[in-house]
Amino acid sequence: MEKYDVVVIGAGPAGLTAGIYAGRARLRTLVLEGMMPGGQVVVTSHIENYPGVGPTTGTELIAEMSEQMASFGAELKTAPATSIESRGDSFVVSAGSDTFETRSVIVATGTAYKKLGVPGEEEFLGRGVSYCATCDGPFYKDLEIAVVGGGDSALQEALYLTTFATKIYLIHRRDEFRAVPILRERVRENEKIECFCSCVVERINGAGGVESIDLKNVKTGEQMTHPVAGVFLFVGLEPKTEFLGGIVDTAPDGFILTDNDMKTNVRGILAAGDCRSKLLRQISTAVGDGATAAFAAQCLVEDDQW
Ligand code: NAP
Repeated sequence: MEKYDVVVIGAGPAGLTAGIYAGRARLRTLVLEGMMPGGQVVVTSHIENYPGVGPTTGTELIAEMSEQMASFGAELKTAPATSIESRGDSFVVSAGSDTFETRSVIVATGTAYKKLGVPGEEEFLGRGVSYCATCDGPFYKDLEIAVVGGGDSALQEALYLTTFATKIYLIHRRDEFRAVPILRERVRENEKIECFCSCVVERINGAGGVESIDLKNVKTGEQMTHPVAGVFLFVGLEPKTEFLGGIVDTAPDGFILTDNDMKTNVRGILAAGDCRSKLLRQISTAVGDGATAAFAAQCLVEDDQW
């Protein structure tokens, strides 16, 4: 079994930053990337708030971070981790049939978009229902579509989708959007976006693909069916922490609990980035987490300090 000082699970901004710092600290470092290299950020259409960089795309940013990490000697392997097992002073990280022994583990697995849980969502996935505007937006050229959600993701991706669609119906369950004011301003000023506030999607309808959605106004009780060719869902994030099987403490919503040094309750296991329970999920905060976690791993490996 191959031995490492640190195995980083996840190759988004947090994991790659941990890889850069651990590589520069000359730790034997392995970064495992999952089925979606780069994590959530690669499906982000537009990045304009990562200081000193941009505007850029997630794909470009991740390519640069990966190259930078490789230059410091950290290994990158496509192998989604399936478990972490404690073995005295070390851990065994399994990724399918591969196993790796390591002194420390940094969990940086990020998040996935939540499901809305309405009839038609599963049925029309890939046939009109999408969680990725950058992947599927071009299919909706000159068509009318719906975007569901009121956070940064929904508003940012609705704006991006105006590049293709003729009309975007932005459906939000409350009267107020939680997205940052600059995105709210842009949405307000964009003639292609029409907001349906205080409305929920009750059903997604179609035959071969999506044809319409059933909406309900939660204030008036009014119900309507609205024709659309596609529905993009951005109703929040859930952590990719199931594979941990409860080895570290998590909050009730599944996000990993850490202290300020990114340490979990298990000596040797750290967490960084969006999978961690924290106030703000941004590339800039993920990068800070990754650097801190790598330094904490270095203190453990070199000086036995935890
Ligand atoms: P979010 O902030 O959790 O927003 C989720 C939205 O979906 C909320 O408006 C919520 O409504 C709505 N929602 C949740 N469950 C729903 C349901 N069952 N039915 C209908 N609507 C539902 O998620 P996000 O927008 O994906 O953002 C996640 C994190 O990533 C945030 O920290 C965000 O700042 C960050 N992010 C940042 C950027 C950026 O900096 N440019 C871009 C994307 C994401 P309520 O408001 O009523 O709760």
